[in-house]
Amino acid sequence: MRNIASWGRLDSYPHQAVTLDDPRHVASKIAASNLPGLAHGMGRSYGDVCLNPGGTLWMTTGLDHLVAFDEANGRLICEPGVLLRDIQRAFIPRGWMLPVTPGTQLITVGGAIANDVHGKNHHVFGSFGDHVKRIRLLRTDGEIIECGPEMSADWFSATVGGLGLTGVIVEAELQLRRVESPWLQTETLPYADLDAFFDLSDASEASWEHTVAWIDCMRGEHQRGLFMRGNPAPADVEHPAMPKGKKSTMPVVPVSLVNRWSLPPFNTAYYTLKRWKAGAAVEHYEPFLYPLDNLREWNRMYGPNGFYQYQSLVPRAIGRDAVQAMLKEIARSGEGSFLAVLKTFGNRSAPGILSFPQPGVTLALDFPNHGERTHTLFARLDAIVREAKGRLYPAKDARMPRDLFESGYPRLAEFMQYRDSGISSALSRRLMGS
Ligand SMILES: Cc1cc2nc3c(=O)[nH]c(=O)nc-3n(C[C@H](O)[C@H](O)[C@H](O)COP(=O)(O)OP(=O)(O)OC[C@H]3O[C@@H](n4cnc5c(N)ncnc54)[C@H](O)[C@@H]3O)c2cc1C
Repeated sequence: MRNIASWGRLDSYPHQAVTLDDPRHVASKIAASNLPGLAHGMGRSYGDVCLNPGGTLWMTTGLDHLVAFDEANGRLICEPGVLLRDIQRAFIPRGWMLPVTPGTQLITVGGAIANDVHGKNHHVFGSFGDHVKRIRLLRTDGEIIECGPEMSADWFSATVGGLGLTGVIVEAELQLRRVESPWLQTETLPYADLDAFFDLSDASEASWEHTVAWIDCMRGEHQRGLFMRGNPAPADVEHPAMPKGKKSTMPVVPVSLVNRWSLPPFNTAYYTLKRWKAGAAVEHYEPFLYPLDNLREWNRMYGPNGFYQYQSLVPRAIGRDAVQAMLKEIARSGEGSFLAVLKTFGNRSAPGILSFPQPGVTLALDFPNHGERTHTLFARLDAIVREAKGRLYPAKDARMPRDLFESGYPRLAEFMQYRDSGISSALSRRLMGS
């Protein structure tokens, strides 16, 4: 047994970790495991969707082979433990890129499919699952299901965003998109309030591929923030020197560095610095799309008690008022986060039954774990999300109440037919009863 934690480091739990590395032996290793088990990629999910305390975890990062690539049409076949970073680094120099990646590229293809992750370009490219053409799914009874948008489409839509609960993805075929260079033409624009954020979002969606905003969540109704947008740059763009790829590591700290005294000056310094540098720039895709990947183990910054991320999504029509109400509650509580991200999702239907993205506005914030105090705030935020008929993101969750999950994901009963009875997670036990 080995103690394993997820990205939020709320706790670590004993697991029987079974390494999957040779595709020929995956089925027999799963059959020989104590069931129920669960696939585990990079453990970059913040909460308990990737944990199975007391049970088996099938560790997939050893299944890291690129199997085939068709240069003519950009189709890549790969094993599920391949990191998005490795796909980007191998194929961008050849003129191909993953259409959708989240705010970190240090995740596996299996994890990206199982949470149907989204990036800063949802309004243009949808979510990760929109670009998956085929999945080879291994059930714990040994059955193999080949599925895709046009073959066994019901299994496909259950597995994309299926939280690892329909089987183990053992191979995937992905459609990459063309790019001319690794550079992006970007703009950073300070904004003064939520109305200005929505105006900027509306004005940017038609002509900018990537849009995202940082918001200073410590200022109650007097929000301010920075709106970032970017487009792929042409091959001949004039660009700065390549980033050095220098990595630093967050040291282990005995207490959280993020608290009600450190946050306001932290946020003010960030805002002032970025505002000073605002305007147009040419940036390499890595620092723009994955700003935290160069600070290894930044999750240690929250100290030994770990942290939660609260990522909500509310419909656009009520989005401004709901976000305003949440920010007011957060400022009032004195809890809050440096990493507060605000983004609108496009009007697209999602590929998975339980996919998180849907049209609306999403607010994501990190909170140091202060026990009861933090949970009291979450209950207030839940009430706002519930009232707005919104939902929370399971990939980030470690505590949402079951009724909020059920109201946020009205197709849950349909999903349950596809579950593999040999698979279970801490999240599925908490929110689905098994
Ligand atoms: C800094 C940071 C930024 C992030 N930004 C975003 C963002 O912008 N957008 C977004 O959507 N998410 C974001 N995330 C969340 C992250 O993208 C997801 O949690 C992702 O699923 C993690 O992948 P992983 O490889 O670490 O999988 P894990 O966290 O290990 O597992 C995630 C789920 O995938 C399942 N799984 C893994 N491999 C397989 C497999 N082979 N077969 C079946 N199921 C499998 C697991 O069972 C689990 O349910 C961010 C996370 C971090 C740390």
